[in-house]
Amino acid sequence: MVEYTVCSVVNEDSKDIGSCIVKALSRVEYDVEEFVGPVASRKYSNIYAMLVAVMLTQNTSDANAFKALKQLEKVTGLDPHKIVSVGEEVIAEAIRVAGMYRVRAKRIVMAVKQLLEMFGDKADKVCELDDSEARRLLLSLPGVGLKTADVVLLMYCRKPAFPVDTHIRRICSRVGLGSSYEHISKTFLCVVGRDVEKLVDVHLKLITIGRKYCRPTKPKCDSCPLQVCCKYAKSKATGNSKS
Ligand code: SF4
Repeated sequence: MVEYTVCSVVNEDSKDIGSCIVKALSRVEYDVEEFVGPVASRKYSNIYAMLVAVMLTQNTSDANAFKALKQLEKVTGLDPHKIVSVGEEVIAEAIRVAGMYRVRAKRIVMAVKQLLEMFGDKADKVCELDDSEARRLLLSLPGVGLKTADVVLLMYCRKPAFPVDTHIRRICSRVGLGSSYEHISKTFLCVVGRDVEKLVDVHLKLITIGRKYCRPTKPKCDSCPLQVCCKYAKSKATGNSKS
């Protein structure tokens, strides 16, 4: 995937902003208990269960994703063979609370089926692949986009990846890093490096900033730890910001 050469595609301005953010985040505390979604608050015994959990978090709240996961677990035990054998209708009913349940169920069944056809019960071998190959493979599955693939790689495979969720994208857009997924992800991979624990730490701290300070409306710039790095906060201070 993202090798150290990742830095060669990140411009100096972005590196400066990324470094400023990482430094500012070192003083930020967060409580992992606040992450109530099925990804950060739970461990999974196989990549199928993790993949399904992440797919349930797409475009829904953490709380609803968790409810959907628990229902799905009741019905299938998160066993990949069972997920495929019970079929889309049953899956859709179980995950209804997450919204878009028919489309979501179809994608989950197709992704699990495809992975089963490739690896059978040994799909954790995905994590043993070369970083870029593992990412390419995950991205080839139905319903798996950049964020889902990167979350699985970072949080399950413990590979260097930097997922960009809506909070992180909003913050980065305001601080001056732009809103391109790949650019934001590569900037943090470049600045943080390949240390997985640090990447998880920066990822979770940015989400915390997004929840507590950099909200979609009326961001709390005056008390935000990233104020010193932030283009939006600076222009706000000079009266040139747009909400
Ligand atoms: S200073 Fe304001 S705009 Fe910048 S990251 Fe913090 S809350 Fe968001």
